[in-house]
Amino acid sequence: RAKELGKNNFQFFSPELNERVHKQLDMEGYLRHAVDRNELRLEYLPIVNATTGEINSIEALLRWDNPELGRVFPDVFIPLAESTGLIVPIGDWVLETACQHLKKIHDAGWSNLKVSVNISGRQLERNTLVGTVKNALESSGLMPSSLILEITESLLMKNMKATRAILQELRSLGLGISIDDFGTGYSSLNSLMILPIDTLKIDKSFILEVTSNSQNLSLVQGIILIGHNLNLQVVAEGVENLEQANLLNTNGCDELQGYYFSKPLPLESLLDRLENTRGFIGQI
Ligand code: C2E
Ligand code: MG
Ligand code: MG
Ligand code: MG
Repeated sequence: RAKELGKNNFQFFSPELNERVHKQLDMEGYLRHAVDRNELRLEYLPIVNATTGEINSIEALLRWDNPELGRVFPDVFIPLAESTGLIVPIGDWVLETACQHLKKIHDAGWSNLKVSVNISGRQLERNTLVGTVKNALESSGLMPSSLILEITESLLMKNMKATRAILQELRSLGLGISIDDFGTGYSSLNSLMILPIDTLKIDKSFILEVTSNSQNLSLVQGIILIGHNLNLQVVAEGVENLEQANLLNTNGCDELQGYYFSKPLPLESLLDRLENTRGFIGQI
């Protein structure tokens, strides 16, 4: 019987799957210690005024370098952090660190800059997020208006009522709320009116072909129009060339981010860049 079972199920123990399961377990183990072992870092992606090129804010992006695994990309470890709950302590670290860093940036003379921090669903579900945000603001001495939280569109729709209540509480502290990856989820237009939000970030998949595909352009124009009619700021993600930047600016998009302006930068490089460009970036 056992033999038969083993035979029938031999594919479940294939070397590839075995390796995959082990890798996953290893990775989880390593991720569990990533905070204590100082393996996490933040890089910052400038977000610029579409007309002037002035850097208005920066998006904090998490990086993980592990001695055994090497560089692990966010698209790999963020889902793992979410499924294991590790995103909660990691997310706390991100908020604390991003606020400390922004304070340094302010002290270096760039006191109007804001920082935008990605928040995952697991963090929203816990009722500790408001406390964490308050602590991060207090210990860094930042004004709440310097902080923006990014919530992905797909997440917002999961539990509208609860999400709305938490966002309202966060926003009443004075910080900003952005909807990230907009256009890839399934939010109803109604929910855009109901939710306490400030900004729509158009997903980079729409920007990629915005200059070559007229349907893409129509969609982007529509999002900008709807956003503005609802009094929201509109940001385009994934701007990789001047043509895209010009087209988006012509169509009234408020802010742009992407490799055309800058790759994500470590804090020190960002400070250098601000110094060298006097806070403006790119030629629009
Ligand atoms: P996101 O929040 O939509 O961040 C934008 C992603 O696009 C970043 O990838 C950024 O490096 C990349 N990007 C920027 N400009 C361009 C461009 O011109 N072209 C292209 N193709 N890509 C561009 P990254 O850093 O790999 O992060 C991936 C995702 O991981 C983020 O997407 C975000 O959802 C998540 N993430 C990153 N850091 C955190 C974090 O601290 N907490 C949470 N919960 N999620 C995070
Ligand atoms: Mg984001
Ligand atoms: Mg995005
Ligand atoms: Mg994303």
